Amino acid sequence: MISFSGKVGIITGGNSGIGLASAEKFLSLGASVVITGSNLARGQNAEKYLKEKGFSGEFVQMDVTNEKENEQLIDYVVNKYGRIDFVFANAGVLTDNLADKLEYEKWKDVLDVNLNGLFLINRAIIQYWLKNHLSGAIVNCSSICSFVGQHEFPAYCASKGGVKLLTQTLAIDYANKGIRVNAVCPGYIDTPLLDGRELDKQKLAALHPIGRLGTPEEVASVVAFLASDAASFVTGASYLVDGGFTA
Ligand code: NAP
Repeated sequence: MISFSGKVGIITGGNSGIGLASAEKFLSLGASVVITGSNLARGQNAEKYLKEKGFSGEFVQMDVTNEKENEQLIDYVVNKYGRIDFVFANAGVLTDNLADKLEYEKWKDVLDVNLNGLFLINRAIIQYWLKNHLSGAIVNCSSICSFVGQHEFPAYCASKGGVKLLTQTLAIDYANKGIRVNAVCPGYIDTPLLDGRELDKQKLAALHPIGRLGTPEEVASVVAFLASDAASFVTGASYLVDGGFTA
């Protein structure tokens, strides 16, 4: 049985989808959790949702692409909660097109949130742990798109491929400091990320041998495992949660 009793964690992009389901999971296992997002209303709704479930996750509004805000987030959580044991770097966006039609600004936006923003929170927490001689666990949100290309997702696949190899590099650089860094690589998961796009969910579901889309909760279980002491010998892993998609 995994327990996060007395532990404190941060989940970026924790006000929706996989991030919010993960917050619920960590809270149910005894952790204190700070969730972030750039949208205040979504954050307040998420806090309310967690409260209704009997949990007290706190929302902090911040933009993962802002270097200072990542550093301030670490300071804020340490000052208020006294420690940080894990970070789930989960914030991400999906705005894509065929490469010949993809505006450079859109390419940069996707790379900025999914890869640069993820680097910034990884760096900020690693600096904090190193400075204070502490250990901890990072879980980065990658995707099946770090293993296989997907039609019309050039920026998204490039960003998630970057997350996978960044994760592996950080894992080997900091393993001897007691810092574990792993990636979770979901298949298509039914979250707001897929809404409002011209994606046929039934066709997407059929691509997974299990025959359906995944749920945010199914990803959250693996995230919790990777962040927990049960995964004490797991680092640098890219853990697929894809219903057999890439198999
Ligand atoms: P989602 O519900 O849309 O969640 C995305 C989260 O990222 C939101 O909480 C959003 O909060 C946050 N975010 C986006 N830009 C941000 C920024 N600049 N600063 C701070 N937060 C920001 O989608 P999801 O499916 O749960 O996605 C979570 C992660 O899973 C992403 O990294 C995504 O790439 C990955 N993933 C998803 C799937 C899938 O099929 N759904 C598959 C593989 C991987 P705000 O709106 O408040 O900014």
